[in-house]
Formats: sequence, structure tokens, C-alpha cells
Amino acid sequence: MCHLCVLVLMLATSAACAQPAGVTAELLPPPEGATVSVQPEGPLRTRIEVTCPGDTAQGDAPLTLRLDITPRWPHYYLDVAVLDADGQFLPCTWRSSERNRVEVAIPAASGTYFLQITDPRAGRPPLLDEAHRSARDPATGLQASICRWFDGRAAALSFRFDDSHPTHILKAVPMLREYGFTGTFFINPGTGDYLAHAEDWAACAAQGDQEFANHSMHHRGADSDEEAEREIGDASRHIWGLFPDRSPLLAWSEGGGTVWTHTRPLREILDRYHLFDAYGGRAISMADAYGERVDAYRQGLDEAIATGEWFTALFHQIGESISEDNFRAVLELTRERQDALWIAGMAAVHKYRTERDAASLSCAAMDADSVRLTVTCGTDAALYDQPLTIAITPPESWTADALHVADADGAAVPTRVRPGPDGLTVLFDVPPVDAVYVIGRG
Ligand SMILES: [Zn+2]
Repeated sequence: MCHLCVLVLMLATSAACAQPAGVTAELLPPPEGATVSVQPEGPLRTRIEVTCPGDTAQGDAPLTLRLDITPRWPHYYLDVAVLDADGQFLPCTWRSSERNRVEVAIPAASGTYFLQITDPRAGRPPLLDEAHRSARDPATGLQASICRWFDGRAAALSFRFDDSHPTHILKAVPMLREYGFTGTFFINPGTGDYLAHAEDWAACAAQGDQEFANHSMHHRGADSDEEAEREIGDASRHIWGLFPDRSPLLAWSEGGGTVWTHTRPLREILDRYHLFDAYGGRAISMADAYGERVDAYRQGLDEAIATGEWFTALFHQIGESISEDNFRAVLELTRERQDALWIAGMAAVHKYRTERDAASLSCAAMDADSVRLTVTCGTDAALYDQPLTIAITPPESWTADALHVADADGAAVPTRVRPGPDGLTVLFDVPPVDAVYVIGRG
């Protein structure tokens, strides 16, 4: 039995793919005498040639063309499509457990195919250099920066709950509320578990302190474009209906163990329903079966605080997958570190990070006692509506407590004073839109 496997490594040249990327092609079942080869045609396109002798052992039975793709960016698998020689998109199958692999059914005949990856940066908010997030006025010495996380907290923390299990609405939500914390609930609104408590979920949404996310309608993947559109689109529409006053942007996760088949890159569907992929990042799965979960959580959280990262703790059934005692221990540990943490839903954190990546500041003295601060934002405020926090380090001769901030209309902006690395800083929150503020000595 021959193993038809060819690996081509190519150096990526696009800014979006900084690492070497490769594609491995394989035919299944391995047909006698057939060959497959891959040839890069650019950083985002690979040509695949299949050569089959006329009398293959499988006769006319179709083959599976399996493509293993070296990850090029964290969510690249959402951008993958396979085309035939006529440019038709072919149904691609991928599994949540093997995101770097797609399989396509092809005839047992010679043919040419193309693996095409859509540049995920096209049409997205800009990614500006970190230097854009701070500014200094040379005349007064006043410095301004956009805090790494909301309210100047050291790290961001999200509690994530998958599958709309009844213990989420019956146990997790009340316990989170005891501590004043927000969770992100990846719901499957078409499942019996959800429907049995649909009124409770609606009441939770109406209270407005928790975030819901799209986990597809039924947690069963999809066999076609139409089914993928329904599974994803109906879940978004359900959540939008529960939160009519919120931005439609939602976190998305396809569900563990699911298999998806579609033709166009999945990101096209996710974009239609304003979804971002929650996969990746610093995260911990909080199932007791993994052992020592509370210690592992403490360690992960402390590392996130030290490095300024976004940390996510993933839960399934409360009182089953993780004991209620351990869940409470996690909440207690979190409360002890609360001052260092921005505890928020995943869409809120994603918005803040995306807005900040696309924003810039500039400062110019108006006179010896006031500075004009210009905030420029590169995100669409209809989707990205999470306020940003700006930190001002006043000149030495100014008094932080007396500093005042006004918007372009002269209205006072509420401020708060916090210890910073270079003395006291003054924080204030701004909507993520282009705006001018006047900072006065007071
Ligand atoms: Zn799930």
C-alpha cells in the first residue's frame, strides 16, 4: 500500500502569515498507481494535482482528498476553501478536533484542485503599532495612553459556560451574581436542555448582567451550506432577540466533537451573523476529571495578571463536571484578585481589544494649562461599542486630583485617580469613536 503524501513548505510573504506554512495532501483510500502533488501558487493558494490511472482499484468510487494545513494564524481554518479547476467551491469537511485538516470528496480521476485561503485581515479594523496607543504633549509634558484593559486593570478574565446546561442557569448564574461577576454562556437554543429552561434564560437576558454567545442551534455541526447557515444564523437571531439593545457582535464556538461541511469559507457565515471565533488564547478547561483544577486556575490567573493577558476559564455542568465546592473556590480566588481583573463577557473583551488595536491618540497643548487630546478609532461603533479607558499622567507641576476632562461640547467627563507607574494617573472612559477632549489643569 503506497502512502501518497507530499509535503511542500513555503515561506509566507503576506503580513498576515508570518510563519512558514505548508500543505500536506493525501488520497484516501490510497488508490493503486495514483499520485497527488502540491505546488504553492502564492502565500494563500496551493495547486493540487491528482493523477489517477484509468483502472483504479476503487473503480468509480469517489476518493477523499485530505489536506493538512500548517496553521498560518490562530483562526485560519475559518478562511479555507477548496476549488476545482473550473473555480467551483467544493464541499469541505472539517472537525472541531482537527481544525488544521479539511477533506473533500473527489472523483477517482485525474484532476486539478486549489486550496485557497482568504486573507482574514481584508476588510477588518486596522492593527496599529502599540506606539499609537500613547501620546505625549512636548509643551506641558502631559502623557496619555489607552489602558491595556478596561478601567486600567492588569488582566481580563472571562468565565465561559458551554452547551446551555440546566446547571448554568440554575446554579452558575446565581453564584456569579453573589460575587457580582459576569459569565459568557455559549447556548444551543434548539436543544432540549435549553428549551426546558427557555423562560429562565430569557429572564437572565432581561436582567442584562450576563453575556450569551453562539454555540450553534443544536451542537451537531452541519452537512451543507444551508444547514450551517441555519445552525449559526438561527442561534444569532435567537440571542439578538433576547438582547435587542446590545451590539449584535457575539462570540462563537462550533462545539466540541462536531463535524462541519460547507463550500465557502466559514468566516463568510460568521461575518453575516457578527460572530468572532472564541477558539484560542490563554484558557483552562475546568473539569475536575483533569485534576487539581483550582490550583491550575490560580496559577493560570496569576500568570495572566503578571503578563497582562486575557484568561478564560471554561466550565460545563456545575455540580457534575466540576463540583460546586470547586466552582465556589474559583469564585473566591477571583474575588481575592478582583482589583487586578477586568471580569467581563468574551464579546466585551474582544471588542475592547479590537477597538484598542485600531485606535490612536495624539496630544497638543492649547495653552500652559490645557491640552487637546484627539482619539481616533478604526472600528465600527455599531458593532464595537465597549468604552475604552484612557490614562492621563499629568505634568509634575499639575495636581492629579484637580485635573479635569471635558468633551468637545465642554461637558465634564467623569474621572478617577489611581496610582500608576509614574505617580498618580487619572482615568476616564470614552466611547470608541473619533473625538476630541480637553484636559485642563484645574
Ligand atoms: Zn459544546
